[in-house]
Amino acid sequence: MEQAFVNWLRQQTRTHPQLRLGLGDDAALLAVTPGRELVVTSDLLTDEVDFVLEKVAPQRVGRKALAVNLSDLAAMAAEPLAAIVSVALPESRAERLAHGIYEGIFDLADEFQIPVAGGDTNTWPGKLVISVTALGQTTRKGSLRRSGARPGDLVLATGQFGGSILGHHFDFTPRVHEALLLHRQYDLHAGIDVSDGLSLDLSRLAHESGCGAALQLDEIPVSDAARQLASADTSATAIDRALGDGEDFELLLAVPPDSAEQILRDQPLDVPICCIGQFVQQHGLWTIEPDGTHRPLAVQGWLH
Ligand SMILES: [Mg+2]
Repeated sequence: MEQAFVNWLRQQTRTHPQLRLGLGDDAALLAVTPGRELVVTSDLLTDEVDFVLEKVAPQRVGRKALAVNLSDLAAMAAEPLAAIVSVALPESRAERLAHGIYEGIFDLADEFQIPVAGGDTNTWPGKLVISVTALGQTTRKGSLRRSGARPGDLVLATGQFGGSILGHHFDFTPRVHEALLLHRQYDLHAGIDVSDGLSLDLSRLAHESGCGAALQLDEIPVSDAARQLASADTSATAIDRALGDGEDFELLLAVPPDSAEQILRDQPLDVPICCIGQFVQQHGLWTIEPDGTHRPLAVQGWLH
């Protein structure tokens, strides 16, 4: 890209204690707290797959590209340190697009007080592609993984589910602060963020933990957007949308009953957190029927 753009990028760079050396050298230098683990996650977003550039401001695309990565750091209960951003821009409108995309990224990066520590910006004859890598570090309590759920743990969920296509998939807040607070103050066994659908991501967590999960369907918080979509298009009910739409970017947590009761009583987050089911011995996904029996639940979601 042109020098003017590089200069503009460097002007956007704020000072951050964890960034020892940023744009301008061959690589960035980051300070990591001794004894902690580095947490690394990366996502690739492509025009007409993850967004439709003709229908959305580039600022929102840039914001989303960073936000999905911060959501993965949240799922590991990691403190964000920095982001690396690489963009392949369509030649025809590269300059204008680049500014918009980076504005969206910088807004969210500022909100979470992390630097964009490096990356690359190129033009090419194809469609817009953005790759963001987020770096974080574990806290003193270590990481939160998918593999720690045990039968008897409760399934806790933040926020609401379904209908994200109406706007939430761009404008969601990654649950970084929520995950860090819960991990610090309570006993959590496992966690995942919902990117591909509540039922699919819950089944992934259960699978990694070597157990199953049973859902109390009437306890699942269904978003207004899911209800709105269900009334316009009757091919999927609101609860189906909550179970399968994806890109909710809420947290699903496996929490031992004592700790879960405390969380539900305290409601320590700015967003509601509720119990939607329980992990069970028998593998697979189940519903909890009114008489307490379990029925198989088909996994719905977005498979890449
Ligand atoms: Mg994830």
